[in-house]
Amino acid sequence: MKTIILTLLAAPALLMAQARPTITFSVSATGADKTELRRVLEAVQELEGGKNDKTAADFEVIQRIDLRNFLVYKKVWKERRAPVIGDSLSRIGGGGGVAGGGTYRVAEVDRSKVFWLITSRDHDNVADGEFLVGIIAIETGKTRETEEATGYPSTVRELKEKTDEAIALTPSQEEFVAALKSGKTWTLNNFTKTQCSRCNGKGNLGVLHENLRCPSCQGVGSLFSDCLVKW
Ligand SMILES: [Zn+2]
Repeated sequence: MKTIILTLLAAPALLMAQARPTITFSVSATGADKTELRRVLEAVQELEGGKNDKTAADFEVIQRIDLRNFLVYKKVWKERRAPVIGDSLSRIGGGGGVAGGGTYRVAEVDRSKVFWLITSRDHDNVADGEFLVGIIAIETGKTRETEEATGYPSTVRELKEKTDEAIALTPSQEEFVAALKSGKTWTLNNFTKTQCSRCNGKGNLGVLHENLRCPSCQGVGSLFSDCLVKW
């Protein structure tokens, strides 16, 4: 009998352990205490910053809008598998492959994504189809309408050249609020620590259950939830 009860108790816990709970942080409902809001904004900035590649890249200019604004493609590094010597591909191609069939990296223009690049200095000598070379550009989190430049409506992501004096964290508080108001949300993994409701933070199930280690929190007494940040 005891075994059956314990099995019944353990089953929902196993199900719960699979899906990490998500709590919602609603920015519009923040009261006078802005401590948690600051913590959320810092985590969002860290999340957004982590997505940014901070190495210099080359950009092919699709269209120059003015001296500092360009529609561009980004040149990216791609991993390629070298043909094995003697295989059909290298015979057709007349050889020239790398021996051994390993991988190598090539820089290629990724024409599947268009960006709106804002440079930190004037470029009056770069024509359409040419390259802006060695630019460290980070995503601002904003989008632009290409209709301004091309007459054709399309929404593209904005990139801004990073300069030493402009290491401002993005999104700024204003950008963060504006993005939330327009419906954007962020999910921060393992952001919120809450007391385990099954064992009330004790880590065990109490004397009625022979002080068994709490299966919900693995005896820790607290659980981490993902945090959905929304307006
Ligand atoms: Zn617990």
